Amino acid sequence: MTADHGKCHCGQVEWEVKLEDRAHILCHCDTCKQLGGGTYSLNQIVPKDNLKITKGKLNTYTYYGDSGKPVNCYYCPNCTSQ
Ligand SMILES: [Zn+2]
Ligand SMILES: [Zn+2]
Repeated sequence: MTADHGKCHCGQVEWEVKLEDRAHILCHCDTCKQLGGGTYSLNQIVPKDNLKITKGKLNTYTYYGDSGKPVNCYYCPNCTSQ
C-alpha cells in the first residue's frame, strides 16, 4: 500500500493518505452540491488512521445530516480548501 500526498490550495496544510483501494463515490446530494459548487462531488472514504495531516492545522465545523448524525467538516483556515 503506497501513500499519496496532497496539499490545500495555498499550501499551508499538507496531508498523507494510504488508500486501501481506489474506489471512490460520486455524490449528488444537496450538501455536496452546496459545498463543491457543482453538480456532484468526488469523495474518497478512508479509515481515520490512514490519513495524517503532515503540515499545518485544520479548522472544523459540524453540521447535522438528514439522518440526524453529526458530520465534521475540516478545512484550511487560510484558503478554506476542504
Ligand atoms: Zn490552504
Ligand atoms: Zn453528498
